[in-house]
Amino acid sequence: MNYAFDRNGRKISRLGYGCMRFTRKGGMIDHRKAEKEILHALELGVNYYDTAYVYPGSEKCLGRILHDGRCRDAVSIATKLPQYLVRTESAMEAIFRKQLARLRTDRIDYYLMHMFTDLSEWERLQTLRIEEWIRRHKAGGEIGSIGFSFHGDTGTFLRILDAYDWDLCQIQYNYLDENSQAGRAGLQAAAARGVPVVIMEPLRGGRLVHLPVKARRELEKSGKGCSPAELGLRWLWDQPEVTCVLSGMNSLEMIDENARIASQTVTGGCTAEDLALVERIRGIIREREKVPCTGCRYCMPCPHGVDIPGIFHYYNLMHMEGKGRARIEFARNIGLRRDAGFASRCAGCGRCEAHCPQHIRIPEMLKQADADLRPLLLKIGIAAARRFMGR
Ligand code: SF4
Ligand code: SF4
Repeated sequence: MNYAFDRNGRKISRLGYGCMRFTRKGGMIDHRKAEKEILHALELGVNYYDTAYVYPGSEKCLGRILHDGRCRDAVSIATKLPQYLVRTESAMEAIFRKQLARLRTDRIDYYLMHMFTDLSEWERLQTLRIEEWIRRHKAGGEIGSIGFSFHGDTGTFLRILDAYDWDLCQIQYNYLDENSQAGRAGLQAAAARGVPVVIMEPLRGGRLVHLPVKARRELEKSGKGCSPAELGLRWLWDQPEVTCVLSGMNSLEMIDENARIASQTVTGGCTAEDLALVERIRGIIREREKVPCTGCRYCMPCPHGVDIPGIFHYYNLMHMEGKGRARIEFARNIGLRRDAGFASRCAGCGRCEAHCPQHIRIPEMLKQADADLRPLLLKIGIAAARRFMGR
């Protein structure tokens, strides 16, 4: 495993473990499976584990695994304050205490303000005397480093970066987002200020893994012999400003593969030919993508039961892989579910839009997606199949 260092000289593995996508069974995290995966990643040298207060069951699961495996001191825990839920200083403290309890620890190594999209969010926390709160917890050893995760635009990122002496930041960054969100400009600005940058959505919610056929052919034709995921990760680790890349790993194979790439990839290792290949693939993806949804699920749950990310996934798939396959998968994976989250349930309340870091006009796009994914004949077919299945 390759490592970088934070501002205090603490080692951070270049591959970090995103604990948002643990496998679930009947809605609950499959703890035994997650335990095997976390311990396996640790054996391979992964020492940075990222979770958040609002990832259902994630902090508790991670805390139990580290406690039972007696490996708390071998790792760094990064978790996040749901700043959008905090209205008082005492609420902030209560959430933090709950997080320590869930994680079965007496300290959080990296504590991040979750999902900043605007400077006003930090300013509001300042009115709750958060700076004094941070100073106290750092002095007491309960917080190691302080940071923020970000989903706004580049200008806002730069303003937030300058608004406090941050130890770390976390941004969405991948070859499709090179010039959106914090973007390369934000990444470089953070690095120039000595602020380590952790990358989330490195493969854009799987979009850079499941490439369109034409892009896959382009990759095969290049003779690089690497997978789409490897190409996306190599592009990131090529950049010296990238400290750590988070991956929401949920299989041993995925952990082995990502750890291998992280160990073999060196900064500045991409050739001009590699970068040109990325450019061609990016162009092909952009030709087809309809909705820039990363599958982050911040818009969920919808009070009317619409499966927003699921629908956008199949809508994009339809444009990337052809109508037939996407419609069949949509019908099977969403249409036949007991609680099918069809877009037609959308009441247009707009609640989801306010939480979408990609600023997608969700109700409007859902209408379009529904019309394309469920033409009349398929609607009738799904309804008949549901009746047959007693749903
Ligand atoms: S706008 Fe539609 S999809 Fe979004 S939360 Fe409201 S009902 Fe759900
Ligand atoms: S619609 Fe927006 S908030 Fe919802 S999953 Fe997609 S990117 Fe995330």
